[in-house]
Amino acid sequence: MRIFTASLATETNTFSPVPTDLYAFKAAFYAGPGQHPDTPTLCSSPVPILRRRGRAEGFTVIEGTSCWAEPAGLIQRETYETLRNTILEELKDAMPVDGVVLGLHGAMVAQGYDDPEGDFLSRIRALVGPKVVIAAEFDPHSHLTPLRVANLDIMASFLEFPHTDFEQRGEHLVDLALRTVRGEITPVISTFDCRMITIYPTSREPMRSFVDRFKAIEGTDGVLSISVIHGFMAGDVPEMGTRIVVVTDNDADKGKALARTLGHELYGLRKHTAMPMADTETGLDQAVALRRLNPSKPAVIADVWDNPGGGVAGDATYILRRMLERGMDNFAVATLWDPIAVTFCHAAGEGAELDLRIGGKSGPQGGEPLDLRVTVLRTTHAGWQSFRNSRVTLGRTAVVRPVGTQIDIILITSRTQTYEPDIFGNLGIDYARKDFLLVKSTNHFHAGFRPIASDIVYIAAPTSYPTDPATTPYRKASLKLWPRIADPLGLET
Ligand SMILES: [Zn+2]
Repeated sequence: MRIFTASLATETNTFSPVPTDLYAFKAAFYAGPGQHPDTPTLCSSPVPILRRRGRAEGFTVIEGTSCWAEPAGLIQRETYETLRNTILEELKDAMPVDGVVLGLHGAMVAQGYDDPEGDFLSRIRALVGPKVVIAAEFDPHSHLTPLRVANLDIMASFLEFPHTDFEQRGEHLVDLALRTVRGEITPVISTFDCRMITIYPTSREPMRSFVDRFKAIEGTDGVLSISVIHGFMAGDVPEMGTRIVVVTDNDADKGKALARTLGHELYGLRKHTAMPMADTETGLDQAVALRRLNPSKPAVIADVWDNPGGGVAGDATYILRRMLERGMDNFAVATLWDPIAVTFCHAAGEGAELDLRIGGKSGPQGGEPLDLRVTVLRTTHAGWQSFRNSRVTLGRTAVVRPVGTQIDIILITSRTQTYEPDIFGNLGIDYARKDFLLVKSTNHFHAGFRPIASDIVYIAAPTSYPTDPATTPYRKASLKLWPRIADPLGLET
C-alpha cells in the first residue's frame, strides 16, 4: 500500500488589504518532502500522522510539500499555481499510489481562481484516476463547492471552534482513508446547504450541545463522519455559506436525510450561536468591573475582528488607544503587527528609549497609528507561541513599554492571532500579574486563556474585517442567505 500526503493551506479574506505571495507561505510554514516536523500544524496534521502510522503498520508513505500562509488577502496567481504544480509533480513522481490524503484549509481564493481547492482536487483526480482514494481535511471556516465533493472520496473538518481537535480530526480522516484503501468501507459524501452565514463558537451554547449530539452519532449505524462547514464570511466567492457534510458507508439516502435533519436543526439556532460582543466603551467598562470583582486574575479583552487569523492585518489601534486615553495601566497586548516598528526596536536595542509610531499602517479602518515614547524591553529574532501541540512563529519580535507605565506591548513581523498565554511568557511578560490582557483573536484564544482569566470580554471594534454579512458589499457570494434574508429555507411560516 502506497499513500501520498501533502498540505496546501491558507484562508483568504478577499476584503483584506494584505496580499498573499510565496514569501507569505515561506515565512509562515513551508516544509519540503520529508521535512515536515513530527509535530503537526493546524492544517497539515495528516502528514506526521501518516508518517507515524506507515512506520507502525508497514505501509509506504510518500510525503509531498506542506505549506501554510497566515490568513490574508487574495493569493497571487503565480504563487497558487507554483505551489499547486509543485505538489502535483511530487504526486506524479510518487505514482502509482493507492491513496492521496491532503491537509487543506478550504478558504483559499487566488487571482483568477474562486475555488483553488476544487481546481487542485480535480487535477489530482485527473492524475490518479477514478479508483484511487482521495481524502482531505478542512478547516470549518471554508467554502464547500460541488467541484470538491465530486473529486473527493472522504472529507472531514475540525468540529471545535477554537480548533482544539485538529489532530484528532486528522487521525479520524487518516483512519477513514486507510480503511477505504483496505476495502473495509465505501464512503459516500452527502451535503446540505443551510443557506446562512454566521459564527459558531463551540466553547459556548448552543453549539456545544449541537456538536456533542452529532459526535455521538458519528461512527454508529453506517455514519462514518459528520462535519459542519461553518463558512467564511470574509471570502466573497459563490459558495460562501454554511453546509452540513455527512459521510456514510455507501448509504447516500441515509446521508442525505441526516445532513438535512442536522442542517434544519442548525438553521433553527442561527440567531443564537455567535457570542455576545460589546462596543469598545461598554466592553472596557465591563473589563474594569471584572477586575474590581476578581483582582486575583487578569480580565481578558478580545479584539474580536482585528484577528490576523481572519485575514486582516492585525495592526488596529482602536482599543489600545482608548485604554491609554482612559488611563488604564498594568496590562499587556498581544499583538500588533508592525515590521517597521520592530526594525526600529531591534536597531535601537534592548533598554533603549525612543519615540515610536506603532500600528495603524495597513489602512485607516482600525484607527490611526499611536505615537508613544517607549522603552524597548525585549527583542528576539524568533518569537513564538503554542497552539496545543503546534508551534506558531511570530517572526522578529519586540516588546515595548510606554514610559511611565506598566503596559507591555508585543510587536511582531509574522502576522498571527493570539492563541495561548505563553505568547506573553516566552517574552518574559508576567501575564498572571497584569490587570488586563488585550488579545487579537475571535475565539481561538479561548481554550488557552479561559483558565488564567477572571473572565473574557469580547469587543467588536472598528477594523477592515467585513463583520456584518447583512450589509457586506458581496459581489460573488449568494445573497439568498440569512441574515441577508430572514428565512431563506422557508421553515418559519
Ligand atoms: Zn477556522
